[in-house]
Amino acid sequence: MKAEIIAVGNEIVTGNTINTNAAYIAKQIQTIGITPKYHSAACDTLSEIQDVLSKGLERADVIFITGGLGPTEDDLTKEAVSYYLNKELFIREDIVQNMKAYFEKLNRYMPDSNKKQAAFPADAYILENKNGTAPGCILEKEDQYIVLLPGPPKEMKPMLDQYVLPYFKQKLDYCYHTIDIKLFGIGESEMAEKIKHLLGNFEDVTVAPYIGDNEVIVRITACGKNRGEVIERAETIKNNVCNCLGEYVIGYNEDKLENVILELIKQCNYTLATVESCTGGMLASTFVNSSGISSYFNEGIITYSNEAKIKYVGVSSDTLKMYGAVSRQTAKEMAEGIRIKAGVDIGLSTTGIAGPNGGSIEKPVGLVYIGIALRDETYVYELRLTGDRQAIREKTVKSLLVKLYKQLKQICT
Ligand code: ATP
Ligand code: MG
Repeated sequence: MKAEIIAVGNEIVTGNTINTNAAYIAKQIQTIGITPKYHSAACDTLSEIQDVLSKGLERADVIFITGGLGPTEDDLTKEAVSYYLNKELFIREDIVQNMKAYFEKLNRYMPDSNKKQAAFPADAYILENKNGTAPGCILEKEDQYIVLLPGPPKEMKPMLDQYVLPYFKQKLDYCYHTIDIKLFGIGESEMAEKIKHLLGNFEDVTVAPYIGDNEVIVRITACGKNRGEVIERAETIKNNVCNCLGEYVIGYNEDKLENVILELIKQCNYTLATVESCTGGMLASTFVNSSGISSYFNEGIITYSNEAKIKYVGVSSDTLKMYGAVSRQTAKEMAEGIRIKAGVDIGLSTTGIAGPNGGSIEKPVGLVYIGIALRDETYVYELRLTGDRQAIREKTVKSLLVKLYKQLKQICT
């Protein structure tokens, strides 16, 4: 089943709002076997909405439209679609009552203009909106479907997940199983080279690479009639991919590296502390993302200046003078210093040049040292990172987590 995703709104077409809805919908529908084929956008006018709709219906089986379901004059999606399909809109009293209840819950009066949001063609399959006032709907036109969803992502996403995906899952009578394998430390092309015999669209399984957030993802989607067989097929491919890329695998699906590390730390019953320079607290903040970390993460310090590095974690002033703050030696002393001062098993440090200023020929922007003091051993790694200040800081954190993960995996499992 092929899909087109249409965003309605002047703000999307002019670039004032980024069309995140389309990306979300495209990703989600693939998990149930709908293939996104086209994205388009239209301004808030009847003729332009109808224009993209008619193009969409020529080339897709299902059209997802987001935006323009609100109560104002410029919210015209339903009007355009119903007019195009030659279906009249009727105000549904049950929906008006639901909307009134929603307003009452917020202690607000419902203006009359909101009733427009309760108007639907008689045969529309209504999608309840638990996070706003405008319901969505699914319309059928012979063998094609048009799905209308609200513009605000916090309303659109739950509606898609809770109602639209199950609706199509049932219609398609097909099951899908998706596994994302997350990799770090390998580029997309190198990864594709290593698994080129596995990549591609086969009859009942697709293996495709994606670029994630500082990570490369291999997505496996298997489909078929029998759920057990589908899962088994996906798992077999997953094992094949892992055999080729095992050393780069940092998790699966929704796994977050910090949670995977927490599990390992729990197994070893280790405690940890951080001392950061260029990441300015980002490393500590990443650990704090994991619920349950409080029993293992004791403290995190930011030592931005040389004085702070001396004062709080005992870096020697000679080291700073001789090698500088961004050096292997400083990273080592920081990691060991925090491990001892905090009385923990693992001390972690970051020091580097995040840019855009402050680089030199010997120490360019993107040069970062990370330290891991793990019981009696200290490991220091030099990183050469690219990107803007934010990207360099994020990559520093990610690299440190990957190195720590690898160390812990050897020790704790
Ligand atoms: P409302 O009842 O809030 O008017 P609506 O269904 O009419 O909802 P729009 O008016 O088109 O939706 O958009 C409301 C807001 O939702 C926009 O200002 C924008 O912030 C966000 N939004 C709309 N479309 C998208 C999109 N495709 N991607 C991301 N955000 C969007
Ligand atoms: Mg609106």
